[in-house]
Amino acid sequence: MLESGDVTVSIRNLTKSFGKVQAVNGVDLDIYSGEFLTLLGPSGSGKTTVLRMIAGFEKPDSGSIYLGGEDVSQLPPYERDVNTVFQDYALFPHMDVLSNIEYGLRVQGIEKTERKVRSEKALDQVRLTGYGDRKPAQLSGGQRQRVALARALVNRPSVLLLDEPLGALDLKLREQMQLELKELQREVGITFVFVTHDQEEALTMSDRIAVFDQGRIEQLGTPREIYENPKSAFVSEFVGQTNKITIEGKKINIRPEFVSISSSATLGDKSLEGVLRDAIFVGATTRYLVGLENGEALISIKPTEPLSVGDSVVVSWESKREFLV
Ligand code: ATP
Repeated sequence: MLESGDVTVSIRNLTKSFGKVQAVNGVDLDIYSGEFLTLLGPSGSGKTTVLRMIAGFEKPDSGSIYLGGEDVSQLPPYERDVNTVFQDYALFPHMDVLSNIEYGLRVQGIEKTERKVRSEKALDQVRLTGYGDRKPAQLSGGQRQRVALARALVNRPSVLLLDEPLGALDLKLREQMQLELKELQREVGITFVFVTHDQEEALTMSDRIAVFDQGRIEQLGTPREIYENPKSAFVSEFVGQTNKITIEGKKINIRPEFVSISSSATLGDKSLEGVLRDAIFVGATTRYLVGLENGEALISIKPTEPLSVGDSVVVSWESKREFLV
């Protein structure tokens, strides 16, 4: 469905260096209208620099950026139909919430009544109805982040750029905001380009993910494609956990959730014997570390019965779950 949609942002052969550092090295990317696209990668992989070039805060060394078909590569930020939400919120501390949200509309010369209607609506959209007269200092971190979102949404940009917007929140709030943000994006239908180094966040929220490494896109695809069919060792290690083991003389990769562990039963057409070395409780799951006969180790999170450290065990899986990179 997405493939046939309109392209809102088109990036062609984009490069950018800072001194000797090649931050972005030949990026091509089409982002579809109404899509939630995440730029995911380790620190220093170039994702923020790409976002800043879309916003117009950085100039590319070469290559082009098109917004709605227009080449905006040389335009200043305020002439681009995009808004950015930063991790540090960047709210005006002396203004109340509603004035913060209205600010962009005021600069555009929109008259007072319309400003108020649109700002109140944006406040409703981020579930902060009634908070308009508070100062930013009187809000929690999550509420401040919502104000920053409302302030961007009120301008009705065709593209919203989000630079690690949930990075400063604690884990629980962060997980809640991930779901809310995704819901909000569906509601408003604006194209979101979201930067994060958190793979779980990317898998949870995105329609598609561009995985970055060393200034390049390593893989572009839906969360499921990226997770189930990683195209390189880098992607398989960065997104999710992978066991790398040798079986029948062949090196294969298998995710821990597809490996069963038992004292004798096998589930699937592949199996290996080993010893349970450790069982690590991590809340929702327990990670079973198995030492295999060939000296390799493997993690399973699928026990078929209670097991104790030191037990002889058999691990098994279906070969269709293996992948090579
Ligand atoms: P992070 O998650 O840490 O923000 P990132 O993937 O967003 O990482 P970028 O911020 O795009 O990475 O940085 C890519 C590379 O360019 C890094 O090596 C960084 O140090 C360098 N870099 C980015 N901005 C500048 C700058 N203004 N001056 C010099 N070097 C920079």
